[in-house]
Amino acid sequence: MIRARRGPVRILRQLGAWGAMSAFLEVALEPLHLIPRATRAQAGSSPAGDEKRYCIWTIGCQMNEAESSKVEAMLGQVGYLRTESEDDADVIVLNSCVVRQAAEDKVVGKIGSLARVKRLKPDVRIALTGCMVTGQETKLRARFPHVDLFFEPSEFDRLVEIVPELAEADADLAELPHYYQSVGSNPGVAAFVPIIYGCNFLCSYCIVPYRRGKEISRPFDEIVSEVERLALQGVREVTLLGQTVNAYGHDLPDGRDLADLLTAVDAVPGIERLRFLTSHPKYFNDKLIETIAELPSVCEHVNLPVQAGDDEVLRRMRRTYTADHYRDRIAKIRATIPGVTVSTDIIVGFPGETDEQFDNTMRLLEEIEFDKVHVAMYSPRPGTLSARWEDDIPNDAKHARHTRVERLMERVSAAHYAAMVGETREILVDGFAKGRWRGRTRGNQLVFFDASGDWLGQMVEVRITSSSTWYLLGEPLSVMAMA
Ligand code: SAM
Ligand code: SF4
Repeated sequence: MIRARRGPVRILRQLGAWGAMSAFLEVALEPLHLIPRATRAQAGSSPAGDEKRYCIWTIGCQMNEAESSKVEAMLGQVGYLRTESEDDADVIVLNSCVVRQAAEDKVVGKIGSLARVKRLKPDVRIALTGCMVTGQETKLRARFPHVDLFFEPSEFDRLVEIVPELAEADADLAELPHYYQSVGSNPGVAAFVPIIYGCNFLCSYCIVPYRRGKEISRPFDEIVSEVERLALQGVREVTLLGQTVNAYGHDLPDGRDLADLLTAVDAVPGIERLRFLTSHPKYFNDKLIETIAELPSVCEHVNLPVQAGDDEVLRRMRRTYTADHYRDRIAKIRATIPGVTVSTDIIVGFPGETDEQFDNTMRLLEEIEFDKVHVAMYSPRPGTLSARWEDDIPNDAKHARHTRVERLMERVSAAHYAAMVGETREILVDGFAKGRWRGRTRGNQLVFFDASGDWLGQMVEVRITSSSTWYLLGEPLSVMAMA
């Protein structure tokens, strides 16, 4: 489904079987998609002489990716070039996640591996940021003496302690609107924009509120002007971010909320796609649903984590809603937004989850037929409420439940994708992988196509020719551009 958009959308060229190459030549002249920015030029270049280099490693959620992009922009501003090799770097930044033990283990492994780099090259400066750091600096300093700087996610300014050039920077670095999504080799097509930090919920299993603090919404006008600057730099798709993004504005004095912000950002010329992550079911109200349906740029995709389909499990998770409330929200979303896709998060093996309670979750999944489910096995996080309870689901039972959810989702996803074959979708090309161009539909479905030339950043109409479980294959029909 292609939605009507604000302003005239020009089809630059209809593509026949032989058309892909000529369309490339035509769109290559289109100024809107050309994003020659310093960061783009730097990526992958091999620096000469005494230029400084940085290496950045990120794990975790989109908020971490956004914050890493900010660090990249700051370092780029003072002339540092990106390298993928830790051995070549003058500065190494690790951005950590501790939402689950598995993520924390990866971070610890990564930090450990850098001891060798530090031994061989004592001048290298190593920084650790992200959720692992908050409130833990003293302990971490003793545990990892080869790390030079630990800074909390909000403390970007402290990078100056290992990058003195930042003190001399011309621009106000805190104001840099560089929340670029690093997709493939093109950082300029899509951008993440954090709009609210922290979380006021206290889900019994979750470490986030302890590491990210209470909700703080960014000022409304500041976000809109940041998006305006991004649009001027060629960004076409913006994803507004928050741990509970639809709590946006609750702490602001003027009563404006996420729906009002979407309306303001939708009006920014050049922004053709607007997304937002992650929503909480409690605040997914009718006003928000109707706003998504009305605004041309807001994509028909909702990410709404349910976590469990059993009321007793939801109560012990402290999610503050019931399974029926969740069903009601999905019904309203589907009735109001034509063609909407819906994704969710599930935790299996929460303490005390019985077979029957897990079956209630499976029933909800079967009934709703989500387009995508992010499923995780419960992982006790020290400091959270549920970590004090007995973790009484054995690992093999957690694995078995995890597998059951995955099998169901494979079936559902394959059926959804198969039903799309023959249809036409608009995709924004965000990368080149394994010899094919790659992009996402407005519903966030992954599509690959073969074509010669440079399609990066193009909005392309694609006919879906075949499907697999997790992605679609297509052929390009026409290239779209805002006139
Ligand atoms: N704020 C969102 C919400 O309300 O659902 C989610 C943010 S949370 C950082 C991202 C996902 O990590 C959650 O949806 C949950 O499924 C998962 N998660 C959080 N804590 C977890 C834990 N202790 N064990 C397993 N998964 C966890
Ligand atoms: Fe964690 Fe719950 Fe807040 Fe989501 S709403 S970040 S799961 S505490």
